[in-house]
Amino acid sequence: MTEQTTIAAISTPMGTGGVGIIRISGENAFSVADRIFKAYSSIKMIDSDGYRAHFGRVFEGEKALDEAICLVFKAPKSYTGENVVEINCHGGIFLTKKVLKLVLENGAVPAMPGEFTKRAFLNGKMDLSEAESVMTLISAQGEQGINAAYNLLEGSLSKKISEINETLLSTAAHISAWVDYPDEEIEDIDNNKMQYIINTAICGISELLDKYDSGIAVTTGVEAAIVGKPNVGKSTLMNLLSGYDKSIVTEIEGTTRDVVEETINLDGCILRISDTAGMRETDDIVEKIGVERSRQKLERAAIIFALFDSSNELTEEDYELIKLCKGKTVVPVINKTDLESKIDKEYIENELGKVIEISAKCGNGYNEFCETVTTILGTKNFDTTSAMLANERQRLCCEKALSSLRDAKSALDCGLTLDAIEICIDDAISSLLELTGQRASEAVVDEVFRQFCVGK
Ligand code: GDP
Repeated sequence: MTEQTTIAAISTPMGTGGVGIIRISGENAFSVADRIFKAYSSIKMIDSDGYRAHFGRVFEGEKALDEAICLVFKAPKSYTGENVVEINCHGGIFLTKKVLKLVLENGAVPAMPGEFTKRAFLNGKMDLSEAESVMTLISAQGEQGINAAYNLLEGSLSKKISEINETLLSTAAHISAWVDYPDEEIEDIDNNKMQYIINTAICGISELLDKYDSGIAVTTGVEAAIVGKPNVGKSTLMNLLSGYDKSIVTEIEGTTRDVVEETINLDGCILRISDTAGMRETDDIVEKIGVERSRQKLERAAIIFALFDSSNELTEEDYELIKLCKGKTVVPVINKTDLESKIDKEYIENELGKVIEISAKCGNGYNEFCETVTTILGTKNFDTTSAMLANERQRLCCEKALSSLRDAKSALDCGLTLDAIEICIDDAISSLLELTGQRASEAVVDEVFRQFCVGK
């Protein structure tokens, strides 16, 4: 066991519920539990076998506070790899906090965010990318996301990275032996074989990087912004997509003065969607701030839904919007197609690409809209069983590995010495080992777990 202290935290959300769980992990977990919990069977947790549930009461001194069930897990067969007790009491906010306080007064210290999972990682129960998948699983918003995150937890990414790394490691070891021991009878390095190994690794990593954005769209979701001049139907579209009246719809221009946000699941594609204030020149100070925020949303969004009003000719504001959207991932949408068309569709298509025609009010064009968005974001037919990268840290490790492998390939193509090639391969290996946590610095590991919630 790597850690000495026994930690505790409430592992269920802070709210009123049927059950609240206080998790204790560490060498003294059983004795801490025995100081406040008495099983009706009189068995002590310290004497219990693992994987057992005991019904009893939680005591504050002599006073019984609640009936509870204690789950006992013995090291190393627990989530953290340490001795673990989970006290399942009734789920009142005050009650769970009170039980935690008793646990802390009787020998445990408060767990830091993600500390249970960090201990699982440090005790070899999972690698770093698997630990991160716990976070992805918790924050997954849809069924596809849950499937993808679960496969990560099961090691789909770790397995793929290890496969790539193993071939690179054996190549590096072969080069190293050949360079360092010229007198030994070591098999010559076959350039074609080395080229093949480097190319295969490049392909494998590129595949992961190519899928990154789609994977994020399936699991935790991407930012999407609905933009357009006032009254084009942004709020109506927002309400159509979210399935209820989230935004206020009126005929009065400038009603949405701030950004309204909602997370929606569009056929398995998770969008953190913003209905923005209508873009126009205004002297109203509040509306001005809203318009500025709309611009920021537009800049940051992974996908933009640029709305135009079919029943009117294009205005200065529309031309301005088209300029702002150019070069970005944008779906131009002509709304109000139930009304007589006066808009120059061809101009919009020439500037921004294929237009989707909808009537947000009647729901016409909804299917085509979904189809287009899920195709652009690559979530349609996304294979949740294959390996994917779950966050920016993992993506950067892959980018670094890819760059080193490309250097190795150029070194080989230019006929540089074998040790130069080996250095590049070693760099790639390091980046991949950083991804799985086998060679990650303490600072990186700390940063990963800081993003977790307390109790996980
Ligand atoms: P926003 O200012 O861009 O958010 O626009 P709203 O969603 O508030 O809509 C402005 C007006 O246009 C409201 O009266 C809506 O009922 C109307 N509207 C929105 N979408 C449509 C549509 O598809 N067809 C028609 N006929 N009217 C629409």
